[in-house]
Amino acid sequence: MRVHAYAAPAAAEPLVPTVIERRDVGPGDVLIEIKYAGVCHSDIHTVNGDWGPQPYPLVPGHEIVGVVTQVGAAVTRHRVGDRVGVGCMVGSCGRCANCRNGDEQYCLEGMVPTYAGTDRDGTTTQGGYSTHVVVDAGFVLSVPEGIDLAAAAPLLCAGITTYSPLRRWGAGPGKKVAVVGLGGLGHLAVKIAHAMGAEVTVLSQSLKKQEDGLRLGADHYHATGDPGTFARLAGRFDLIVNTVSAGIDVDAYLGLLALDGTLVNVGAPAEPLSLNVFSLIGARRSYAGSMIGGIAETQEMLDFCAAHGIGADIELIPADRINEAYGRVLASDVRYRFVIDTATLG
Ligand SMILES: [Zn+2]
Ligand SMILES: [Zn+2]
Repeated sequence: MRVHAYAAPAAAEPLVPTVIERRDVGPGDVLIEIKYAGVCHSDIHTVNGDWGPQPYPLVPGHEIVGVVTQVGAAVTRHRVGDRVGVGCMVGSCGRCANCRNGDEQYCLEGMVPTYAGTDRDGTTTQGGYSTHVVVDAGFVLSVPEGIDLAAAAPLLCAGITTYSPLRRWGAGPGKKVAVVGLGGLGHLAVKIAHAMGAEVTVLSQSLKKQEDGLRLGADHYHATGDPGTFARLAGRFDLIVNTVSAGIDVDAYLGLLALDGTLVNVGAPAEPLSLNVFSLIGARRSYAGSMIGGIAETQEMLDFCAAHGIGADIELIPADRINEAYGRVLASDVRYRFVIDTATLG
């Protein structure tokens, strides 16, 4: 099946309209007519080659929502007409301890990323900036009625990336949670942590987005550019979710944690970070990382968001504005996620 898409022809070149081949629908596959695709910062890093050499031409996009138009003979969990989503992975070995435990994203043989990965049949995976995609039914999520489909797209990466650590480290009533950075990830972290019942603080470079932060559900908002902030908030938080990909002063942030508190990174700085171990042992603190979530957990996140009326705050764009959108993401000029209307792909 030949379908319209937007692809990067080479590293750091503008995306261009193209036509790509999707595989035939196998017995365990689902064919999805893509309606919307979110623009994740990882898409830009990948197509720019920031994370190493890539297979070009490359179609990015791992925040995919759409409607099922065909299912393979063995598929029982999805039907034609269902609203569905696909996130950052489209396959894993299914046999290793982590896969069996529902942690497919940490598959010991390596999960198959939604784009720029090698699929089971040896072909290169191509992502969601496209009109259709064929995906193993085991990696297709149900998007509950009650979430706007376009606003649901960013949940498939940004939503699960923040939901998973909030759940794991116990965000809820009586817990003080800080979210570092109010961007695509951070704005969802605030909404989700607030819905979980935690007391939520945004730590942002400046107070520029304070009004937004409070509207999204934050109880407090502080500027990290103000050196007094770190003294005033010392020992305050049970959990800090750092969504910023730039390097941070790890010791300064660890100092904001209470006894047994955890600082968890979901953004990935390119350069190594250093820390003083005394920042950990002085209050039995932990420094952790987390990457998206498993398939069952992603479904749990979508159901949670539907139950709490949570979608992303989005700016819907036609496909021919994708390169402009990339520039604006790099300039942090988006509130809070670009989503491509794939009906404009031709
Ligand atoms: Zn992403
Ligand atoms: Zn595995």
